[in-house]
Amino acid sequence: MSVVNPFEVAQEQIDACADILILEPNVREILRNPMRELHVSIPVRMDNGVAKLFHGFRVQYNDARGPSKGGIRFHPEETIDTVRALSAWMTWKCALLDLPLGGGKGGIICNPKELSKGELERVSRAYIQAVWQFIGPDIDVPAPDVYTTPEIMSWMMDEYSKIVGKSQFGVITGKPICIGGSAGRGDATARGGMYTVREAANELGIDMSNVTVAIQGYGNAGYHAARLCKELFGSRVVAVSDSKGGIFNSEGLDSEIIYDHKVKTGSVTNLPNAQVISNEDLLELDVDVLIPGALENVITERNAKNIKAKILAELANGPTTPKADETLYENGVHVIPDFLCNAGGVTVSYFEMVQNSYMYNWDEEEVHKRLDEKMKTAYHSVLSTSKKYGINMRKAAYVVAVERVVEAMKCRGWV
Ligand code: GLU
Repeated sequence: MSVVNPFEVAQEQIDACADILILEPNVREILRNPMRELHVSIPVRMDNGVAKLFHGFRVQYNDARGPSKGGIRFHPEETIDTVRALSAWMTWKCALLDLPLGGGKGGIICNPKELSKGELERVSRAYIQAVWQFIGPDIDVPAPDVYTTPEIMSWMMDEYSKIVGKSQFGVITGKPICIGGSAGRGDATARGGMYTVREAANELGIDMSNVTVAIQGYGNAGYHAARLCKELFGSRVVAVSDSKGGIFNSEGLDSEIIYDHKVKTGSVTNLPNAQVISNEDLLELDVDVLIPGALENVITERNAKNIKAKILAELANGPTTPKADETLYENGVHVIPDFLCNAGGVTVSYFEMVQNSYMYNWDEEEVHKRLDEKMKTAYHSVLSTSKKYGINMRKAAYVVAVERVVEAMKCRGWV
C-alpha cells in the first residue's frame, strides 16, 4: 500500500498528544497499544469448486468509553498494522464526537473486484462465522468501510443472527433501511464532513457558494461529497479522481454525470469534456477546498509544500503523514483532521444502534439535524483547543479525544 506504516503514524500522533497533556508513562502505554486483536484464516469455496484461504482481522483498540465500533475493510493490501491504526483512529473519533463507544476495526485481505457476488457473500458470512464470539451489540459493532457495502452488512447481520438464533440488528450498522438501517446513513460520512467544511469556511471568512473544490476518490465518501458541495452550498467541484486517475474541468463537473459514467465504464476517467489529470496533480490544484476521500498517506513531506487549498478536509482515514502536517500548518492550510472530518459515518452508525435498541426509526430530517449538531460541536471544540494550546487542528482533536478516553479509564479504575 505504502512505505509509511500507518500504525507507526498513529503511535507518533498519540506520543505527540501525550506530550501536550503530560500523560503518565503507564497511561501512554495503554493508549499506544490495541487491547485485543483476533487473526483468522478462513477457507471459502470459490465458484470453481476449490476452497481458497482468506486472512482477516478484528482489532478492539480501546473500549473504556463503551463497546468497540468501526468498519470492516476488504482490501488486497490489508495489513494488521493498517487495521490497528484504523482502530486507534476509531477510538479517538468516537470520543471526539462524544459517542458512548470505543474504537475497533476489521479487515479481510481480498480483492472484492475479483470475486463473484456469490464468492463475496461466502467470504462475508465466513468472516462472521470466524469472529462472531468476538463481536456483538454490547461488545463490538462493525460497519462498512473501504470496499464493503450495505449488502455485505446485510449478509453479516443475517449470519450473526442465524448463529445466535435471534434477529440481532444491533450487531452491525450501515445496513439497508428495511432491515434496521438508519435514514441518512448512506451519505453520512460526506455530509458530516461538509458540515465541518461549512464551519471552517465561516471561521476563515470564505463564502462557500464561491469556492472551487477538488476531491480525491469517488467511492461512497467522494461521490456524496461532490453531490453535497453543490447541493448544500452551490460550490464548484472542478476535479475528482479514483484509483485509475482523475478528471478536471475549471467550469465545474456534474456529480451525477460522473457517477453514471463510472457505473458504465468502471472509472471516472475519460469523461467527455474533462481534462485527464493524475491523482498526484489533483492534490496540488489551485482550489479553495481539497478533499482527500480515498486511502491513507497521499499527502506526504514530498507534496505537502505544493498544496494550495485553503481548507484540507480529510474525508479519508489517515491521508496526511505527520511530517506533511507540520508543513501544512506552517503554510496556513486549515486542516480538518480525518477523525473529525469523516466522523459523520460513525455518528449516524451510533444513531442506527440507538434506533435498533429501542426499535423506533427517525426520519432523515431528524438524522441530519442531530448529525449537524454533533459535527458542529466537535468542530468547535477542536478549534477552540487549537487556539488555546497554539497547536494544529489534528493535535487539538487528539487532545480533546484522548482526554476523554483517559478520563473514562480513570473512572473505571484502569489507571
Ligand atoms: N468506516 C467508517 C469510519 O471509518 C464508519 C465506522 C462505523 O460506522 O462504525 O468511520
